[in-house]
Parts: sequence; structure tokens; C-alpha cells
Amino acid sequence: MAPERVTAEDMLERLVGFETVSGRPNRPLLEFVRGYLAQHGVAARIVPNAEGDRGNLFATIGPDTPGGIALSGHTDVVPVEGQPWSTDPFVATAKDGRIYGRGTADMKSFIAVALSLVPALKALPLRRPIHLCFSYDEEIGCLGVPSLLRLLGRELPLPALAIVGEPTGMKVVNAHKGIWVQRTTVTGRDGHSSAPHRGANAIAYMARLLGRLEQLAAELRSEAGAVPGAEFDPPWSTVNLGVIEGGTALNIIARRCSLLWEFRPLPGADAPAIRARVDDWIARELTPALRQQAPEGTVETASVAAVPALMPEPGGLAESVALRLTGANRAESVSFTSEGGQFQECGISTVLCGPGSVTEAHQPNEFVDVEQLKACEVFLRRLADWACA
Ligand SMILES: [Zn+2]
Repeated sequence: MAPERVTAEDMLERLVGFETVSGRPNRPLLEFVRGYLAQHGVAARIVPNAEGDRGNLFATIGPDTPGGIALSGHTDVVPVEGQPWSTDPFVATAKDGRIYGRGTADMKSFIAVALSLVPALKALPLRRPIHLCFSYDEEIGCLGVPSLLRLLGRELPLPALAIVGEPTGMKVVNAHKGIWVQRTTVTGRDGHSSAPHRGANAIAYMARLLGRLEQLAAELRSEAGAVPGAEFDPPWSTVNLGVIEGGTALNIIARRCSLLWEFRPLPGADAPAIRARVDDWIARELTPALRQQAPEGTVETASVAAVPALMPEPGGLAESVALRLTGANRAESVSFTSEGGQFQECGISTVLCGPGSVTEAHQPNEFVDVEQLKACEVFLRRLADWACA
């Protein structure tokens, strides 16, 4: 059977049809991609999660040499529940120069364009390899890609630069903040509400933590310095109190209260040190106060996600190549996070550049302009030419 040759639009239609919502299986999509690559003589490695239902995919086109270009995309998408879609979100629907469907902007279009070019890439005399790096569970804290990144430079080749195809409207982005997410749980002692002195109210102790986090937010704002080569709105590391749950009834002293909170460090900010300020305060102030009232009381903080910021690398390989090939004269900053900082932490020069607009991402009736697919194809073809030079 002759290998399948598909356009980017056809490939996008196939990819959108896999309901790869974060936390649910992406394995059928990966197996489809593996089969497609195999048709073109490209071997792919799947790095599965513990359950085996999800995973990352890595494949190399071109010479078996160190370096080269990683084309990075996450295969997972955000849920559609409760959103007023006019079309089936998992059926790519073309209309008026746009393709609608979940993941068309964020970010199956980049993956689709890259895959559609595989036959063309195979035919080129590449001197630097091109690596496909497709991950899972990005949308819930970039949880999937670390197991793949750990293999780079060991069992898998270490790329020299990475293009993360998040929807930037094909602009080159060299900076974003990180995001650290944690859940802090206060456990006190319950009892009848008429005798508060016999219990330890977890909500009341949580209130002290809320005050400390508000103070942290003010500290981060006042400490912020400019990040050379980046512009952020706002230009400081931020804190958000996301979800709080505590207590069971008015007439019961609340035994338990939990808070889901985040901070978004600027590139260059010492994120572990920011987190340590809170941990130290809890150990020094909050827990001892709670234990005076209830010796069995605890305050525990569990990390949910810790995504590093993307640091601008003025004059860096990825930025200079991407700027030259897109014709842009400067790189930009964005307000969302990506796997870019994780690639960068492996020593890989990294920028974001991909089709579609982030304003369409995560929305009902998410779409990509067909023009954006074309622009992405032009960019990746130029990148491939650069890899031949
Ligand atoms: Zn994304």
C-alpha cells in the first residue's frame, strides 16, 4: 500500500477526532500518529504514563546526530462541558476560511502541519535532525512532558533548539511566566460550635494563611524588577487564591479547610524560594499556633504543578533562527504558560511559534484560520531548509 499523503487540513481533521481531553487517554491518537509515521519509514517511541493509557511520542527525521530541532506540541485539549458549541467540538468543521473544533487553536494545528510535512522532510537532505515531541496532560500543569525530557541526552538525542507550537499567531515568543500550583490543607479539631475553645477551627487558621498569601502578593509586586527582553502585564510575579473549601455545618467547629492557590513567577524569579517563604511561615507561625490548641493539628501543602517560566535568551539560537525565518524583527512575551521553560531547563534553546490565536483557545467554537496553517507550513518548510544548510 502506498504511504498516505495528507494535507495539514486532513491531518487536523483526524487529530481533532480523538477526544484527548487532559487526564483521559491519548493513546489512540499516539498509535494513529505512530502508524502514520511508520508508513513513511519513521520510527516513533512512545513514552507511556504509569497506567499506559497516555503518553508522549518522540520521533526523529533525518540524521542520527546530536542537536537538531524539536517540534513540540501537546496532544491534550481542555474540556468542552458546559460550553455552548455550535458544532460538534470533536468533528473538525470547515467554514468561511476557518476550521472549528476543540484543539484547532490549542494546539493540534501545529502538530497537524508538522505531520503533513513528514513526507517532504523525509525527501530532504537534512543535515540536522528534526524531532517530533508530542506530549500529554499539558493543560493540567505540564505534567506529561517531564518523562520524555528525562530521556533526552540519554536514550534519545538532545535537540539544540525547540519550537513549541502554541498558538501565537505565528509570532515568535521568547518569554512567559511560570506557574506553581499547590493545595494547602489545614486539619484542626472538630467539636460543638458552642464550645469553640475545645476545638481548633481549620477555617480560622486558614484565614491566617490567606492573610500571609495576600502579603506575599504585595511583596512580589514591590520586589519585581524588569525582565530584560520581556514585557509582561502585570510586570511582577502574581499570587492567586483559587478554590477554598472548609467546614461541614454551622454548628460544628470546622476540622478541615483546604485552599488551592497559585503563584506565577516571572522569568528569573526564584520560584522555589517564593514557595519556601510560605512553607517557612507555616512551619514557624501557623503550625505551632494550631498545635497549641490541638496538638494533633496539621498544615500540609501538596504541590500540584510547578511549571518553569520561559526566559528570554536574546541572541539565542531558537530566537535568532525563528525571527529570521518568520521575518519578524522582535520576539514577544505572552501571558500563558507552556512546556517551553521545561525544554529550556534541559539546555535546549526554546521559543514558542505556532498557528492560531490564544484568544480562541479554551473557548467554545475554537477555530484556526486556514491562513494560519499555511503560514505555519511556510515557516516549517523554511526551518527544514535551514536544517539542510
Ligand atoms: Zn496549549
